[in-house]
Amino acid sequence: MKLDAIQSEHLAQIVHISPWPVIVCDQNKRVQYLNQAACDLLQVQKDAVLLCKAGEIFAGIDAAFESETALIEVRVGPVGLSLECRSSFLAVGSDRWTVLFLRNAGEKSQREMVLEQLATTDELSGLANRRGFQRHLEANLAGELAIAIIDIDHFKAINDQRGHMVGDDVIVEVGRRISELFVDFCIVAARTGGDEFGVLCHSCDSEKMVQRLKLLQTGLAELQQEFHATLSIGAAISQVAGLPTRELLTRADQCLYQAKAAGRNELKWEAVLESA
Ligand code: GH3
Ligand code: MG
Repeated sequence: MKLDAIQSEHLAQIVHISPWPVIVCDQNKRVQYLNQAACDLLQVQKDAVLLCKAGEIFAGIDAAFESETALIEVRVGPVGLSLECRSSFLAVGSDRWTVLFLRNAGEKSQREMVLEQLATTDELSGLANRRGFQRHLEANLAGELAIAIIDIDHFKAINDQRGHMVGDDVIVEVGRRISELFVDFCIVAARTGGDEFGVLCHSCDSEKMVQRLKLLQTGLAELQQEFHATLSIGAAISQVAGLPTRELLTRADQCLYQAKAAGRNELKWEAVLESA
């Protein structure tokens, strides 16, 4: 009984006040209805568009009638909007009307942002994870960059001798020191694997970068005393703008390999002057 009352009296009102943009078009694609949210999104006055052909007012929207879910570019005045559109069909007498549910595709919902944050963050250290690091590497970064790869030495022994939980604490502490030391000039600091960390920085100043990395190694005296935890570090510091990050990463990895081969607790770095 209550539901019947809602359906008959309030449904139109509910659609009208919905925060989600809705447009209803008849079988000739003429706008028969649009709610306030649609007016706001498409920047139009309701009366100015009612009974007009949708495609004539919003260039590009015709694509939304062709598929049930579409990502479309709609031109509103001089600006283009990227819209996500879902359409449903409504039988009105013998005609088929279309209901378009729109969303500004450029605007991420709170939920999407939270999910993205979770997907790119390492739960243990709170730093970015490998995916987060990768995203930054893939962004079109200009200028001179530096990448350092930091790996805890003989970490398996810490796990074996002191237990996995203590191993976790060591990872957290190393992560904390990295973010503390690089917070003012790194683009991203990440835990890229089990006991491996990556730092991507804007840097033309190799002296400053090397000094910070040395500070990271010497600043772990307590961990070194208690757990024999030391760090091997490989870094590639570009001296010219525009070197691909993938190349810097490879060079930093090679330097890390050399640091391990040199006996660990070492820093090896390379000033990169040109692409290989
Ligand atoms: P190396 O000096 O050559 O780096 O030796 P290593 O013992 O540190 O060797 P490696 O870096 O290959 O070992 C990484 C270990 O980290 C292996 C894995 O069991 C452990 N590990 C990976 N993820 C975690 C984690 O989340 N917590 C803990 N406690 N251990 C982890
Ligand atoms: Mg290791």
